[in-house]
Amino acid sequence: MDFRLYFRSRQGELVHLLKQLVTLESPTQDKKAVDACVAFAAREFKKVGCKVTVLPQKDVGDLIVAEFAPGRVKDADDEILLLTHVDTVWPVGKIVQMPFFVQGNKLYGPGVLDMKAGLVMLLAALRALHGLNAKPQKKITVFVNSAEETGSDAATEMIRKLARRASLVLCLEPALPGGALKLERKGRLVVRMDVKGRSAHGGTPEKGVSAIEEMVAQIAKLKRLRAGETTVNVGLVGGGEKANVVAESAWAVLDVRFWRTADRDRVLKILRESVPVLRGARIKITVESQTPPLEKTKASEKLFVRAQEIAAGLGLSLKGGKTGGGSDASIAAGLGIPTLDGLGPDGDGLHAGHEHLLLPSLVERTALLTELLKSL
Ligand SMILES: [Zn+2]
Repeated sequence: MDFRLYFRSRQGELVHLLKQLVTLESPTQDKKAVDACVAFAAREFKKVGCKVTVLPQKDVGDLIVAEFAPGRVKDADDEILLLTHVDTVWPVGKIVQMPFFVQGNKLYGPGVLDMKAGLVMLLAALRALHGLNAKPQKKITVFVNSAEETGSDAATEMIRKLARRASLVLCLEPALPGGALKLERKGRLVVRMDVKGRSAHGGTPEKGVSAIEEMVAQIAKLKRLRAGETTVNVGLVGGGEKANVVAESAWAVLDVRFWRTADRDRVLKILRESVPVLRGARIKITVESQTPPLEKTKASEKLFVRAQEIAAGLGLSLKGGKTGGGSDASIAAGLGIPTLDGLGPDGDGLHAGHEHLLLPSLVERTALLTELLKSL
């Protein structure tokens, strides 16, 4: 079966399904809107032969776990986990200014690329496998996140749980511009720095210890963390009470991005060993949140080479690249599971008004995904 030809003749169906999903606007914070999109997706997964479990959520949209044709794969312990999400960054009503439309090779609309196209690809691939009665080598499980753009504890826990039983993970986030997969993503660390000093009258500051002065000195020293491509941004800072009082406390929140877990460890070690410059000042470091980097491992490289071979069989050349931002793939990769990300279509304008995808790549990537699910 030449899946490129197969999906080229079904391009209209792909576009139609994508239009339906984009029209069901689903900003992360609007549970009602997200749930409507989740319900639609759940019905579609059932139609393509999946056993669908909807996990109700209180604060975010409901989550979906869909298992493909569970009766068909015999006692396979080998499992592929697919990661997608239904939520977007666009508020309900955005579609009025940013309608779904096709212009030449490009398809526009809120969330069209990030990542409703990923859902369309997956539904089309499973429909093809189901219709052709194909027997995949591995059990296929799909996780549909409802709060990928903000992150949610329930989804993170679920991804970890599902990834632990999978032998590989595929994530349908958009490709890098030009179509390369995202083989490496930066990790993120959000750290709060609290400084304690001693208050005194503003007229006799020598009797106190200014937490703000200490904080300024500490911020100036953060430059030393920026080794290689590790970045540090002091996004928030605060402290003090009144202009005529020596500040007793000050705080700052840092956002650190890094390629390797080792870089994170280095940064944390330096931060935790921060020595005050003012006598009597104290520094406390708290990690507020962290996302592991998507690191290239031997196993993920092997998986990428295998994917390249499968792509070559379809006449496609598959490249790999890296990106600064995180995705759900990083959570799975953080557990050491071989992970490929950026399997979605090529396009541009993520989180921007010109968000669009390239239609030929939607067809190609759907063909590739189908072949991957069949052969991996
Ligand atoms: Zn996304």
